[in-house]
Amino acid sequence: MKQYRNFIDGRFVDGIRRFADIDPATGRQVAEVHEAGAAQVQAAIAAGRRAVQGPWGRSTVTERAAMLYRIADEIERRFDDFLQAEIEDTGKPVSLASALDIPRGAANFRVFADILKTAPLESFRTDLPDGAQALNYAVRKPLGVVGVISPWNLPLLLLTWKVAPALACGNAVVAKPSEETPGTATLLAEVMQAVGLPEGVFNLVHGFGPGSAGEFITTDPGIDAITFTGESRTGSAIMRAAAEHVRPVSFELGGKNAAVVFADCDFKAAVDGVMRASFLNTGQVCMCSERVYVQRPVYDAFVKALAGRVGSLRMGDPRDAATTHGPLSSAEHRRKVLDYFDLAREEGATFVAGGGVPALSGPFSDGHWVEPTIITGLPETARCQREEVFGPVCHVAPFDTEQEAIALANDTSYGLAATVWTRDLDTAHRVAQSMRVGQAWVNSWFLRDLRTPFGGSGLSGVGREGGLHSLNFYSDITNVCIRIPAAGKR
Ligand code: NAD
Repeated sequence: MKQYRNFIDGRFVDGIRRFADIDPATGRQVAEVHEAGAAQVQAAIAAGRRAVQGPWGRSTVTERAAMLYRIADEIERRFDDFLQAEIEDTGKPVSLASALDIPRGAANFRVFADILKTAPLESFRTDLPDGAQALNYAVRKPLGVVGVISPWNLPLLLLTWKVAPALACGNAVVAKPSEETPGTATLLAEVMQAVGLPEGVFNLVHGFGPGSAGEFITTDPGIDAITFTGESRTGSAIMRAAAEHVRPVSFELGGKNAAVVFADCDFKAAVDGVMRASFLNTGQVCMCSERVYVQRPVYDAFVKALAGRVGSLRMGDPRDAATTHGPLSSAEHRRKVLDYFDLAREEGATFVAGGGVPALSGPFSDGHWVEPTIITGLPETARCQREEVFGPVCHVAPFDTEQEAIALANDTSYGLAATVWTRDLDTAHRVAQSMRVGQAWVNSWFLRDLRTPFGGSGLSGVGREGGLHSLNFYSDITNVCIRIPAAGKR
């Protein structure tokens, strides 16, 4: 059986116990994962501290950028290993993992190397009353040892989205991937070793949240900052832990995202876009649209078109290029999603498409599959309209006016993403800017330029990452102020 070990101070080490890594497409075990104990997490943090106090902490921008490019090259060289590990851990279709997850894993390092090299220094010249001037400039320095905790839905993409800027800024990292998807994180540790990243700069510990590696990281006084992607509830627990030692946090959390479709939209493009936004990665993307609001004149036609399209999603072998719809991440997650379907029925929903478990044959009969599902008819107060399901489901409801659409879209405690479909430029700007979200897309979804800010409002997160936002979060910033006397004066 394949072994996924911890990577501490440049060496792979066994854990204190082992747990099973399950392929959700088949329900079968694919690897044994070594859970790190408290002492091992402490050793990883201590190794990180030594690394930041050593040459890595004093390395130049040029040196670190070169290292990030090497990491990106090595991920690309081992593209197929990463691809197979990601498919085994998540069951996601090869078409998706090869177009999104693995390329973005490499791109995260390359982009942050580029951003690091071109990042401006913030500076101000201040006029003083006596004719002198003050020159202010802010320098970014490493924060120290950063705790990175990531989820299972886009394992490599989301882990590297945080590890890359943390390393770019000269920090050391102690990373804990989701217990459900330890594979590509372990390969990333192999990459770090292969490219000669100094010992202790990147440490990987496997395990769970409470009472395990996750909690050991977030409660340790040796961690200088915590960056986390996952559920809002977990974010709340981590925030409490970070408060103890007053540590900065950056959180990317859940969503209950709205798509707003105006009657004047490009109908086909909007149907295509909402299909992707609702069902990509089996609805397990934090930015997926679970709430779709369609202007009344095109509402019936839109629901019909969506329902027609859902049947074309293909379930089955993730390694088959024709497969477009994978399983859910785990038996537990499938139970949660199916419970929400039962609840939706009790709350008065009409199931226009899906709503059940497909009958798959062969090795996939024991996987955690759920049909892509479209529902209508829920009141806005229904729990299924308010809580994140994180599965292949969207609820479609009609609206009449622009004001009503904005009010409906913003009527949520979350605030991650929104999508607006219209041909009218004025409507597009007005509605997009009115959305209380970190990311509003117009006539598109999930288009990401990694230099732009990314994050969520409300329950969806704390802070923004991306571009300079990431560099600022992962840096300790010192403002230097120099008094320059006027000529002939002191
Ligand atoms: P989760 O919160 O259950 O787990 C995420 C990570 O946190 C895992 O590594 C887990 O082991 C760890 N963890 C759990 N409890 C912990 C604790 N008390 N202390 C420290 N670590 C702990 O989330 P998940 O189920 O893996 O991921 C799905 C969630 O992630 C969804 O809510 C989704 O919307 C969200 N998400 C958000 C974004 C974003 O960018 N905003 C991106 C992807 C996923």
